[in-house]
Amino acid sequence: MEYQACSTRYVSMKYNRCGKSGLKLPAISLGLWHNFGGVDVFENSRAIARRAFDLGITHFDLANNYGPPPGSAEENFGKMMKLDFKPYRDEMIISTKAGHYMWEGPYGEWGSRKHILASLDQSLKRMGLDYVDIFYSHRPDPETPLEETMGALATAVRQGKALYVGISKYKPEQAKQAIKILKELGTPCLIHQPSYSMFNRSIEDEGLLDLLEEEGVGSIVYSPLAQGLLTNKYLKDIPADSRAAKSTSIFLNESDITPEKLNKIHSLNEIAKERGQSLAQMALAWVLRKGRVTSALVGASKVSQIEDNVAALNHLEFTEEELNKIEQILKN
Ligand code: NDP
Repeated sequence: MEYQACSTRYVSMKYNRCGKSGLKLPAISLGLWHNFGGVDVFENSRAIARRAFDLGITHFDLANNYGPPPGSAEENFGKMMKLDFKPYRDEMIISTKAGHYMWEGPYGEWGSRKHILASLDQSLKRMGLDYVDIFYSHRPDPETPLEETMGALATAVRQGKALYVGISKYKPEQAKQAIKILKELGTPCLIHQPSYSMFNRSIEDEGLLDLLEEEGVGSIVYSPLAQGLLTNKYLKDIPADSRAAKSTSIFLNESDITPEKLNKIHSLNEIAKERGQSLAQMALAWVLRKGRVTSALVGASKVSQIEDNVAALNHLEFTEEELNKIEQILKN
């Protein structure tokens, strides 16, 4: 049956301004790194994307290499655009990235102008789009001059193939330089995409959040649930359908679920219960606290997960006491 987006989709989602730009992003965005590839069940991926959009999630985050196999998440998303979302293109913020390994030879990865622009053309083709809303340099390249990588992003905007540009995984010093170069090129850096969760606070410690605030650049934080660790998923065991158990997942393994981590997860879950929330909801509220982060970029393998995650917005506030208790647990 033809998809009709839910008429109440804009009622409860919260939209935050992205840095000092004119663009607002949903407080929760959906990433297609896992569960949208060629190895996954298309109808499940499609149901997650539809439900997300119905709940007010306007932002879908991709990259050239998402799958597996690499490229297949963009192909599947292209199918969904054709089947479901075409009438809604102007209500959507679609991002993609270039920089990680994608094809053979010296131009298949990193930050050369050759890689960045060829990769964007491939991504647009796979998704059947004329342009993406945000185009990222997926990682800094230690060999290519930053001017070249940023220049390629600016070219993508001039070519009409991207509306905004962003950077991902750049350390504060590199980010500062990149932001400066992009400003000089007349294509300001819209957003930075770093990893951030209760289990990974490096962007606080290294001063990235401070820098972005000073520069008026937005932030969208990936893996805010630590790939599922900060949910009720692993409280009892390692379910067979979980990311940690799947052979296609190389960044979260059973060995990452240490007794020390599990202790913390159990203690955090107790605080979440006292707040009347799931642990996932508390973990999302935590990254969004103090309004320092524009959007929490989650993944989902089931429709129910995206519903659970969006309901985090019903209770975003923390008392000082709750925050202190969380600090204690994370410190131990
Ligand atoms: P999360 O930390 O949100 O982990 C998502 C996983 O957590 C899901 O696949 C699911 O795992 C589990 N989960 C989600 N919600 C719930 C819930 N309510 N209850 C129980 N379990 C839940 O983020 P990801 O690591 O998936 O990353 C999100 C996005 O960030 C990616 O899709 C991508 O767009 C982006 N990203 C960017 C990177 C970069 O280099 N720029 C790097 C990594 C990610 P399960 O499958 O086990 O059910």
